[in-house]
Order: sequence, then C-alpha cells, then structure tokens
Amino acid sequence: MSGQSQRGINFTEGEIFGRGAPDREGYTPPRSGLPAIDPESALPAGTLRGQLEGFPSLSEPEVTRHYTRMSQWNFAVDLNFYPLGSCTMKYNPRINEAVARIGGFTTLHPMAPQEQAQGTLQVIDDLEKWLCQISGMDAATLQPAAGAQGELVGLLMIRAALTARGNPRKKVLLPDSSHGTNPASAVYCGYEAVTLPSGPDGRVDMAQLDRLMDDETAALMVTNPNTLGIFESDIIQISKLVHDRGGFIYCDGANLNAFLGKARFGDMGVDVAHVNLHKTFSTPHGGGGPGSGPVVVKQELAPYLPFPVVAQGDDGAYSLEYDRPQSVGRAHGFFGNTGVLLRAAAYILSMGPQGLAQVAEAAVVNANYIRARLGDHYHIPYPGRCMHELVITDKLQSEYGVSTLDIAKALIDRGFHPPTIYFPTITRGAMMIEPTETESLETLDSFCEAMIEIADLAKADPESIKAAPVTTVRTRLDEATAARRPQLRCSLCG
Ligand SMILES: *Cc1c(COP(=O)(O)O)cnc(C)c1O
Repeated sequence: MSGQSQRGINFTEGEIFGRGAPDREGYTPPRSGLPAIDPESALPAGTLRGQLEGFPSLSEPEVTRHYTRMSQWNFAVDLNFYPLGSCTMKYNPRINEAVARIGGFTTLHPMAPQEQAQGTLQVIDDLEKWLCQISGMDAATLQPAAGAQGELVGLLMIRAALTARGNPRKKVLLPDSSHGTNPASAVYCGYEAVTLPSGPDGRVDMAQLDRLMDDETAALMVTNPNTLGIFESDIIQISKLVHDRGGFIYCDGANLNAFLGKARFGDMGVDVAHVNLHKTFSTPHGGGGPGSGPVVVKQELAPYLPFPVVAQGDDGAYSLEYDRPQSVGRAHGFFGNTGVLLRAAAYILSMGPQGLAQVAEAAVVNANYIRARLGDHYHIPYPGRCMHELVITDKLQSEYGVSTLDIAKALIDRGFHPPTIYFPTITRGAMMIEPTETESLETLDSFCEAMIEIADLAKADPESIKAAPVTTVRTRLDEATAARRPQLRCSLCG
C-alpha cells in the first residue's frame, strides 16, 4: 500500500428526512421590531412549519453536521493528487482567493457607472493584454464563462469574418482526438463537423488534412498540445495549408500549461484560440462552478469581438465601448465572471514571466517522469516524449480481466483521484494522466507506486482490483443505472 491510503474518518450519512423532533427548530429571530407580517397569509397554504407532511424539524447543528459530513465524501485538490487529464487540477494558491475577495471588487455593483468601476476595468484591460502577450495574439475578450462558450464565440467570429469576405462556408474540420465540446460548438454555430482522422503517432495527419480541407471548410479546430499530450509539431505547415485554402485556424487552448512562457499560438499561425482561466490560470474548478474561457484573436478578427470592449483613453481613464458594428454581440452579462478574472490576474502577477515559464517546465517534466516510471507496467500507445499529460491504456491488465475502470477505482482506495478515463476515445481503454506542476517528487512517486502496485495486483490477484473501491462511503456503483436511471428525488418526494 502506498503511504497515501485513506485513513480519515468517513461518516456514513443518511437522508435528513425522518430526523429531528416536531418542535425542534433552528434560530428564529425575535419578532419585535420586524414589520407585522402575518405568516398565515404571506405563505402558500400548508407550507407553515409543522404543516408539511414529513418535512423535518431540525436544530442548526443537525443541519450543519448533515451537510458538512456529506461534503467530506468529496475528493478535492486540497486533499491530495488529482491527475484528471485535460482538467489541469493544479493546487490553487490562496493569495488568488485573497485578491478575489478584496472589498472594492466584491462590492462593486454591476451597474455602477464607469467612473466608479475604474479598478475592475483596469484589471480587465491588463488581463487582456497579459493573455495576448502570453499567447502571441492581438486582442482578447474575457466575457466567455467557460471553454465551451469561448469556442462558440471564436467560431462565431470566424463565421462573421468569412461572411464579411463574401465567402461563408459550411464545414469545420476536427481531429478525432478533439474534446467533445469542439464538435458540439461547431454544430451549435451552424457548421457541419467533419472528423479528421489522426495519424498513427496521434498527431494531425497532413495527407488527411490535404484531402479534407476544401473551399467549403471554414476552419480547422485543433488542440495543441493535443488531448493525447502530444505537440502538434507540424502546426506551422498545418496553418499554412488551411490559410492557403481560405480557412481559419481555431486553436483549443484550454490547457496552456505546457506553453506558458515557452511557445505562443500567435507564432504558430493560429487565428483565434480560447484559454481556460480555470485550468491553466489557477481558479478552483469542477462541479459546474464559475469559470472563464477568454478568447484571444489576431487583428483580422478583432472587429468581431463581443461588445462592450474596455478601452483606455488618453487621460488614462477606462471606458466601455459599445459602438462595435461588426461585433458578434454580447457573450455574457456585465464583465464576465469577474472573480475568476481577478484570480487569474493575481496568479499571473504573483508568478511573473519567469514563474510562468517554470510552470510549463515543471508540468512537462512531471508528466514525463510519470511516463518513464509507468512505462514498464502499462501500455503507452504513443511513442516519444509527452507534453503536460500522458495517455496510457489497460492493454496489459486486460489480459487478466482488469479494465481501466477497475484501475481507476483501485486508485481511489489508495487516496488518489483517478485520471480521466476512456478519453480520448480513439485510444482503447485510455487513462489520461495530467500531474500539473504543483506536485512534489514525493507525490509523483507515491502515485506511481500505487499505479505499479495496482498493475502487480492485476496479475496476481485481479479480483481485489475489480472489487475496488472498498474504503469509500459508497463502494462500486452500478454506473450504467446511475447514468441512465438516476434517482435524484428524496424519499419524501416519492
Ligand atoms: C476543459 C476543456 C474544454 C472545455 O472547457 P470548459 O470550460 O469545461 O467548457 C475544451 N477543450 C479542452 C481540450 C479541454 O480540456
């Protein structure tokens, strides 16, 4: 067993219904001094305390403990290693949280006049410039609330530019390794999504690109490094071929971790890209919380950016420009998810250019370290070094009836979050491991030892791996039923 096995207290916790006692209640403010509202007439019939059949009456500590206990069933990046490929689950420094909570930002009313919002507007303007510097692009919008929305905004800009050229097109090319949001965005934007088969080494196949890139194709949506963790080393030739045939290059830059301070989309011929602040730029994410997927563009696409755009006048004051006749429109209310923008700005400032370059170095070294340590124990489908993440498979373990899913569950017993599994779909039994830069050698080693132990047990005692997890509150779920027929209602609701 690795030193990271779960030994904490795991509370079992049932439903809150059927607990408490009829007259028990949490804090009730004294009525004196409050306007005289008659609860009987203010609330719908039958909803007063004691009238709802089966609705529990609980004290404040009972409620607090119920939810806090359940919260402890969650795995978090603050607990241990979380190598969920493509999600960049790095540790998020607390300084970012402190900055995002500064009162001047948090208490700014969204409708405050521009003169009173100068600080926030300055952060937006600065962050746009920093993201342009980092990516080698010319202009940015911080409005999109997620990578997927950034993709849509970027494709809408491409569509607007092609329409302005008098040459609207119908298709978007997507490598078969691309993230599921890419084809979804293309279709949502009104394009036909055409799959570009990858070459045997996992990269874009130039011959296939040459065959499929025609004068009805608006863009190639490419991910670099791609979702297999491989650098698209032909990217300059790829961009040239697509440009020569009148198309645009959309780069999915959700994971910029390998490129920070090292390589820039703008130098690769990319016309538009999105960058996930909640991945590379260190905002806690997962569970559907707020994110941010800014879009960076080359000059040709700048007129189509969502409005309003922040501009700085000669007097140094910031203002919002609404007069943008070619804009694709608004992508988000007000300024986007400002709290995420503040965290990203704090992160960039605290790291500095050299710190960001070190992030890329450590992220790539960490992934290659795991690759080297696991190479004798797991099948690695693509040769050569990887970038910020690596893909392995269950090919060797499947001989003993142990699958990627079993390996993922066995990792939970050893205190680790599993990697992304069964993605990219072009790799059978894929496990996509992204360590990020924030992990120590000790953590990487204990993860590798857990993986090696699982590989050994897969051979020596496969049933023990197939029974995992055994240390969690909920053990192996029936995943198909959970996905197809989830029971989301409490017993009170029937
Ligand atoms: C995470 C990710 C996305 C989608 O980003 P969201 O913010 O989840 O919408 C798109 N592409 C890649 C490669 C990603 O890793």
